[in-house]
Amino acid sequence: MSKVMLVTGGSRGIGAAVARLAARRGYAVGVNYHARADAAQAVVEEIRQAGGRAVALQADVSQEDQVVRMFRALDDELGRIDALVNNAGILEQQMRVDGMSAERLLRVLSTNVVGSFLCAREAVRRMSTRHGGQGGAIVNVSSAAARLGSPNEYVDYAASKGAMDTMTIGLSKEVAPEGIRVNGVRPGTIYTDMHASGGEPGRVDRLKSVIPLRRGGTVEEVAGAVMWLFSDEAGYTSGSFIDVSGGN
Ligand code: NAD
Repeated sequence: MSKVMLVTGGSRGIGAAVARLAARRGYAVGVNYHARADAAQAVVEEIRQAGGRAVALQADVSQEDQVVRMFRALDDELGRIDALVNNAGILEQQMRVDGMSAERLLRVLSTNVVGSFLCAREAVRRMSTRHGGQGGAIVNVSSAAARLGSPNEYVDYAASKGAMDTMTIGLSKEVAPEGIRVNGVRPGTIYTDMHASGGEPGRVDRLKSVIPLRRGGTVEEVAGAVMWLFSDEAGYTSGSFIDVSGGN
């Protein structure tokens, strides 16, 4: 039987790259999406045409009832989860703190932190040897912003990713004795739609000069690091972070 992975926000960008690579490595993949069923279905079809197994699963990860329902659907359609990638995330328009509302901060925290927490909780309930599970692994897609703070741009987003990193450390220690490893990947500036939603489509190119490797990263480069953390070679790695950020 193939191992089962759930990738949140798996219909595009980094999440879709992880879903495709995981399928090539033999995982049956749950491709979570929020609103774009067509995009998620396209990733699923691509995986199926290459001989893999995948299903599209709708849920807004910030909503507890929807996350619970999504995990039940994953159980029914692919079987018990072995690997979770908490990838769904949002970045709002670039803004200094002076103009930022509390509502905006709460929105960002809801998806990036609450969403990751809820999915991790549902995964632990299924993976933990304490609950009769067989163990597993979780990778949280954080950001270099957690270290750098994103001044004048997105301190709310950076704070949410910092919270994800602290949750990664705490969870890793809590569930390690139950056979579950928890790690994080911190992408730097990667070519995806996220930068357009942040209000500056040419942002990656503008930032090249401050990236030591002098270029933005690709989604495949992030997916490779994520998949290493699920590999047997990473069997003694937990509570760790891989920076995929061009030297920053
Ligand atoms: P993206 O905007 O293409 O992908 C984000 C995905 O998350 C989308 O599919 C979106 O629909 C989904 N999503 C958002 N809110 C959701 C919700 N409430 N429920 C379910 N799904 C939801 O951007 P990306 O660059 O591929 O981002 C993926 C992850 O990588 C994010 O967590 C992001 O913060 C992180 N990241 C990206 C970069 C970068 O430079 N692109 C850098 C650092 C970290």
